[in-house]
Amino acid sequence: MMSDPTALNTRDACVAADAADPLAGFRDEFLLPEGVVYLDGNSLGALPRAAGERAREVLEQEWGRDLIGSWNKNHWFELPTRIGGKIGALIGGGEGGCVATDTTSINVFKALGAALRIQREDHPDRRVIISERENFPTDLYMVEGMVEFLDDGYELRLIDDEASLADELAASGDDAAVVMLTHVNYRSGRMWDMTGITRRAHEAGALMIWDLCHSAGAVPVDLTAAAADFAIGCTYKYLNGGPGSPAFVWISPKHLERAEQPLSGWWGHRRPFDMAVGYAPAEGAAKFLCGTQPILSLATMEAGIDIALRVDRSALREKSLALTSLFIALVEERLAAHPLTLITPRDEASRGSHVSFRHPEGFAVMKALIAEGVVGDYREPEVLRFGFTPLYVGYADVWDAVEAFRRVLDEELWRAPEFQQRGAVT
Ligand SMILES: *Cc1c(COP(=O)(O)O)cnc(C)c1O
Repeated sequence: MMSDPTALNTRDACVAADAADPLAGFRDEFLLPEGVVYLDGNSLGALPRAAGERAREVLEQEWGRDLIGSWNKNHWFELPTRIGGKIGALIGGGEGGCVATDTTSINVFKALGAALRIQREDHPDRRVIISERENFPTDLYMVEGMVEFLDDGYELRLIDDEASLADELAASGDDAAVVMLTHVNYRSGRMWDMTGITRRAHEAGALMIWDLCHSAGAVPVDLTAAAADFAIGCTYKYLNGGPGSPAFVWISPKHLERAEQPLSGWWGHRRPFDMAVGYAPAEGAAKFLCGTQPILSLATMEAGIDIALRVDRSALREKSLALTSLFIALVEERLAAHPLTLITPRDEASRGSHVSFRHPEGFAVMKALIAEGVVGDYREPEVLRFGFTPLYVGYADVWDAVEAFRRVLDEELWRAPEFQQRGAVT
């Protein structure tokens, strides 16, 4: 494996690195359009071929012929716990603590609700929830909603880095209830030290919730080794689950018995088909379910999870870092004349699987780049984001992407009027 990006200084060298890549075989398991370098798997992963086959089976046989009998016959009812078990294995969560369900936003609410409830029983005065200013907004919006809803003196405090987290934990004293961070930042790609930060949160008496949206399937995660309390994350990014595929929520075995989440719907009931008066939570992670699940999405997303389970995680990490380091090196060398600012850590240990550069005309530049067949995305403010999914992106793709990027900037292709218009989704 090439780990020194400066060794890949020609396209031929990149092609040779692809030929020697132990993960190269995975690319054929995905359907990708010809002529496109897809660097947006951190926002919507590519389509696994097996997902198409599974979708046909679920539609034609299970829904079309077996109809309502499928809840039992085709085990639809167990899908959230069965697939959740596979995700739990991927994130080092051990057995039984994970369900695939709902959206990340909703799972933030449930995990936070469960964590606050545990704290309220053990330490009634802890009222401070700590998160990061640069977090993906929905995580913070959901905390705000919870704080308003509880209307009981809870408070969200925002930190920026390890130093300000330490300051805030010290300032909060015995008030810190929960620390909730996103392991890999959606904009910068910066990665927290999961084990070290969890330890600090615990030393301050807080429970630790990790958001794994940009980690699951992208970087090695071991929630058990980190001694985390709760985790949530989505499956449509690096796990290639498909648009809107259900998210997951994980509860540490140390809390599973007593944890209770606030959205006490019938799917989380101990015996949902008793139709009993009065809620009684199910055993295990199933109590984190709420209502009827999106079975088509759940069934098709399993194809992407099954691929992820077959991948050697250290090979994945090694290739991810080789791709991101190569991209950074080539952009800085070949596009040096342009006003690009790297906002992703150079330190590999602090980097997830995407790379972001700021450019004053970032929005139009990304539009022009997409028109050249290199699909990344744009995030406010001025940020060009490039995701490197090692399962289907290769070294020659990185080379070609940088060359297209160079054309867009050298020839100022981004100035065309059609690249100035913003759609509803950026
Ligand atoms: C992508 C992402 C989400 C998305 O939440 P949804 O509820 O699935 O829309 C939430 N949080 C983070 C950190 C993300 O990266």
